[in-house]
Amino acid sequence: TLSACDSIVVRSESESELIRSLCQTIVDEDGYNLAWIGFNGEQSDSAFEICAWAGPSRAFVPDLRQNLSKPSPCADTISWCIRTNTTHVVNDIADTLPFSPLSERAITHQLAAAIMLPLKTESGPSGCLTIYSNRTDHFDHKECQLLERLAANLVFGLDSLRTHSVREQQAAEIHYLAYTDALTGLPNRRHLIHYLGDILSTPETGATEYAILFIDLDGFKPINDALGHEVGDEVLRQLAQRLQASVRDSDLVVRQGGDEFLVVISGAVRNGPQQDFVKIVDIAHRLANRIIAHLGEPLTVGGYTHHLNASVGITLIPEHGRDPTLLIENADKAMYEAKRQGGGQSYLFSKDIADSHQQRFSLETRLRQAMEQQQFELYYQPIFELSSCRIVAAEALIRWPQDDGEVLSPGTFMPLVEKIGLINPIGDWVLETAARQLRAWHNQGLELSMAVNLSINQLYPNGDAEHFAGLVKPYVDPSWIHLEVTENALMEDPAKTEALLKALNDQGFQLAIDDFGTGYSSLSRLQHLSLQSLKIDRSFVNELDRPDSKGEALVAIIHQMASSLNLHTIAEGIETEHQRQLLLDMSTGKAWGQGYWFSPPIPAHEFERLAKARARLSSRDEMVPF
Ligand code: C2E
Ligand code: MG
Ligand code: MG
Repeated sequence: TLSACDSIVVRSESESELIRSLCQTIVDEDGYNLAWIGFNGEQSDSAFEICAWAGPSRAFVPDLRQNLSKPSPCADTISWCIRTNTTHVVNDIADTLPFSPLSERAITHQLAAAIMLPLKTESGPSGCLTIYSNRTDHFDHKECQLLERLAANLVFGLDSLRTHSVREQQAAEIHYLAYTDALTGLPNRRHLIHYLGDILSTPETGATEYAILFIDLDGFKPINDALGHEVGDEVLRQLAQRLQASVRDSDLVVRQGGDEFLVVISGAVRNGPQQDFVKIVDIAHRLANRIIAHLGEPLTVGGYTHHLNASVGITLIPEHGRDPTLLIENADKAMYEAKRQGGGQSYLFSKDIADSHQQRFSLETRLRQAMEQQQFELYYQPIFELSSCRIVAAEALIRWPQDDGEVLSPGTFMPLVEKIGLINPIGDWVLETAARQLRAWHNQGLELSMAVNLSINQLYPNGDAEHFAGLVKPYVDPSWIHLEVTENALMEDPAKTEALLKALNDQGFQLAIDDFGTGYSSLSRLQHLSLQSLKIDRSFVNELDRPDSKGEALVAIIHQMASSLNLHTIAEGIETEHQRQLLLDMSTGKAWGQGYWFSPPIPAHEFERLAKARARLSSRDEMVPF
């Protein structure tokens, strides 16, 4: 029996299998009438439970169970035996427990003697193995010793199986964590790479085609920045559910990180007639459009309704790469192209995209280098008083001179600067350089103010007025600096904007609203902002001398708005004398302007020469432009 049981201990793969086979073997090999194994409950107050049994007298088990369901001498014995880890032998049930209903039932089932062996395990609940014989005095000293060895081996078996299963469970948990995105519960990038690896390594049968959809959300970042990560997380969770609901069960949906999701779809290639043949690329585009529509539906989180847009890039497997990472990268490039063309659409990867991406990549590298090597330069455009044409200020405008002599304007590189997060260091450099230049001009007797543009990404999420003042103060008092913020940037987050502008004002900065008229600001909003001037966008100035245009009426309205808000105006893009004259006629109070009519933006030394030359002019000559 002992050796048969040992082999069961070694071979069993589960706890239940082990105890069941063991009971069976004990009765089969040794002719015992009944053997059962029971354990204490997992919780201290839960009842002892008989878990496995075998033998011709097994009908006794229900009687025993009933007896154990409430406090009884038998339950006490079991608990004592386990607690003290002591074997308990009853060599004559009839004699030891006379008149007890349980012993009567035992005798009815031909159970004359019993041995109760504690199973004191180190892992999980302890229990006992109880064996019955139909002969009294069956369990002599030698029998007891052998059965105790058997019980000890069983304990060993239980412990090792349980430890093994804990380890397996842990391994499963680790696997889950490693391959799942914690926020959405979707598979993660690592899972995707394995999945694609499997697809690519399966020999081509020609029966299935696959495509990857790379999905990026437009408009998620502002939600996250403005409303906090909790709201952002909830938005992502809901979008993940929508995404899952948009695809078939057999498609794989993955969150790669941030607001990027991927879907891998398969399409069976049918061998039937040609018209039945649906190309995977059509399936992919159709699904992409469905996803875009579904993700674009309004979403209410954190008390606000959000409108998001999605762009989707598509790659085909294996046409667009034989390596998982490359396939994902190419899908990303295609997504970027979809975004570049306005977003809210899908785009299929092609070699051309890869090439243009390469160019952009090199521009990015060059930009970073330009920043490190301080290759940027500031040009200055004079701002003049419309009435006297006296230069009153300069607007600092960034330029990027190239090796071939070409000087790049901000429109060609600033969008990428913003996208790759270089705006803060570059913006700081601009502000400090402009302040240093102004100091030099003040020292030469040129009493000018300096206008500097601030981008929206310098204001959000954590624009710091003290920091900006710190950059300027070593050179000039901040009151000489006019910070220009575009109208749209001001509308981003009302409460934050109001506080930040006030903080900038408190530091002494003058504030101007740039490109006014191109955004959606309302008078009521503007009223609450600490602003000093308003720059009329050049599109209105352009309209001024066009026949039949509404330019004049619009500029008049802007002037009225400005005077009701107590702001002074600066007209941008004055290209003709006629425009200057009209603007002057319409303006009330102090009016300034800038534009090619007077001077384009020019390098610092040229500006200096111009400013000095004009300072020497008599008032009669002043109307002559540069
Ligand atoms: P902005 O602040 O509205 O600057 C005025 C733009 O109008 C300048 O373009 C200027 O060269 C151009 N301009 C001036 N007069 C005329 C004119 O008579 N006719 C025409 N057609 N254009 C005129 P620029 O220098 O290319 O700058 C474009 C924009 O880039 C700026 O618009 C500003 O928003 C941004 N920017 C420039 N420098 C910086 C900077 O250092 N930091 C930040 N964040 N943005 C900058
Ligand atoms: Mg400006
Ligand atoms: Mg402007």
